[in-house]
Amino acid sequence: MKIERVTVEVLETPVDLQYVAGGSSVGANWHVLARVFTDDGVQGIGFVVALRPTLIKALAQATEELGQLLVGMEILEVEAARSRLERAGGSMGPGGMLCLALSSLDIALWDAAGKTLGQPLYRLLGGHRDRVRAYASDALWYSLTPDELAKSAQHHVSQGYDMVKLRLGHEASPAGEVARVRAVREAVGPDVQIMVDATESWNETQAMAAGRALQEAGISWLEDPVSHQNLAGLAHLAHVLDVPVAAGERLYGVDPFVKTFDARAVDVAIIDLGRAGGITPWMKIAALAEARGIPVAGHVIPEVHVHLLSAIPNGHLVEYMPRSVPIFKTRLVLEDGHLLAPQAPGLGLELDEAACERFRVT
Ligand SMILES: [Mg+2]
Repeated sequence: MKIERVTVEVLETPVDLQYVAGGSSVGANWHVLARVFTDDGVQGIGFVVALRPTLIKALAQATEELGQLLVGMEILEVEAARSRLERAGGSMGPGGMLCLALSSLDIALWDAAGKTLGQPLYRLLGGHRDRVRAYASDALWYSLTPDELAKSAQHHVSQGYDMVKLRLGHEASPAGEVARVRAVREAVGPDVQIMVDATESWNETQAMAAGRALQEAGISWLEDPVSHQNLAGLAHLAHVLDVPVAAGERLYGVDPFVKTFDARAVDVAIIDLGRAGGITPWMKIAALAEARGIPVAGHVIPEVHVHLLSAIPNGHLVEYMPRSVPIFKTRLVLEDGHLLAPQAPGLGLELDEAACERFRVT
């Protein structure tokens, strides 16, 4: 069961947001899709998603070059395969594009390993449960009016989600931020949890004022109130505010999470699968969090995160942001506010090859 061939492609995938208020934005996302083929006919797939095409060809080139180093390696020896790639790419890292290039290859290795063993990934990685609580965060942008936000949130609730996350942080005052939350609250009623993501928009003083006002308004999570580099500020906010402070999506690799956890800077760790460098480091970060009693959430890519968050004891929430729907025949299933981990071997995802062909740019 050796790796025989690795291919990498770039897909320009459509994003259709017509279903939400203010949804004039029929845009595009870019996928770097890696495929790992073994000598006994297994194909593993892995991917990362970018919002813009900038550097996407360079990322695909880096992924392709590293992928060729996997040829001849054993599919069930993922750590050995990664070590080879990390050594080879070491002078370009740690962090940055090296992490993103490693990520799609690492995901593809795990998908192939699961298919080789005939096990769904969430079981292969620990199998703590077969589903994970989900929240919807698509089309809840700063650019929308409070009315439009409310309509988007209602759409998500009509689809079965009972947790939604708004982006905030661009209003002139905490009262302006609260008004946006109130508009959504009126639309969805008292039983839907409203989370907010400030996307590092505030300094510490603004974050403290807004955080207090927003927790008073009944939000259930405050994400990225300040820069991830302001660990002391993040720690202070996490300590003083009652609402859980979540952060981590901008961290690359394992090491920055150790510093973040040791600073007690987060109540919830958000791990971005691409920036972490794939499933292997993701699992290590999650274990570091578990040892400190910190729950873990995923950042986008719900198709993979549903497995990872189901596998571990401290898997908390999966973010439903459906950016890869156009390239798969498989659809994730939502049941009672939980996304179910697919039961087929590996990631349990079937590519729509005709769609991939259509969207392929390189
Ligand atoms: Mg975020």
